[in-house]
Amino acid sequence: MKTLRMEEMNWVDIKKAINDGFKTVVIGVGSTEQHGPHLPTQTDALIADVMVNLITRNLKNALQAQTIRVGCSDHHLPFSGTISLKKLTLKAIIHDYIESLQRHGFETIVFIPTHGGNFAPLKEVVEEAQEKHPNIKILAFTDLMRYVDTQDKIAANFNITIEEAGGHAGEVETSQILFLAENLVKKERFQPGYLGILGKEEIEMLFEKGMPSLTDIGVLGDPTKASKEHGKIYIEKMVEFLTDEIKKTL
Ligand SMILES: [Zn+2]
Repeated sequence: MKTLRMEEMNWVDIKKAINDGFKTVVIGVGSTEQHGPHLPTQTDALIADVMVNLITRNLKNALQAQTIRVGCSDHHLPFSGTISLKKLTLKAIIHDYIESLQRHGFETIVFIPTHGGNFAPLKEVVEEAQEKHPNIKILAFTDLMRYVDTQDKIAANFNITIEEAGGHAGEVETSQILFLAENLVKKERFQPGYLGILGKEEIEMLFEKGMPSLTDIGVLGDPTKASKEHGKIYIEKMVEFLTDEIKKTL
């Protein structure tokens, strides 16, 4: 098939694909939020959309449903352009995705979050929905620590420290967007953000008081070491990792 994106297909071909065995559907869950002075607000949504497209291809018997492009981003709201869903709203959207997609013959529904704030609500909603729909498999990759660890290990191969790799708009995400949409990156604005420890205490403060409590430019990490070449490898390796994780669970 030329495309696996259902939003680019019509119902006739989608129905045929499902009948032909494409019984898994994969959905990215991104965000619309500030990513420093240098990256676009669609950063997480774009990464989700592209990675899920590649994961869908790897799974071989899967289609991709429209990426959820907004997420839970309250801690970024002090910065212009951020659109944040309440946890309940995101959960409701995911419930409705599942309600709709389960009608069409999919046997497995997979969600892949790329934004930290979406991992916990997604975990909850998948458990709830699974109980409601025991005949299909509903899963999501919601282990945020392993997601971040995997990225940090790839970064270490480039001699990028965990602090530089960064939890938000640092070396990793900046490299990914340089690879995916270089025209949207303001390179002249690259500057290090918060490079201190990001432990339990700091993360709690971030969620309670918002990003400005640690960084007034909205960056955790250092974009100055980012490159397109790194970005390509981050995307490829994360796709490999997530594909394996999904295959293990299936
Ligand atoms: Zn992000």
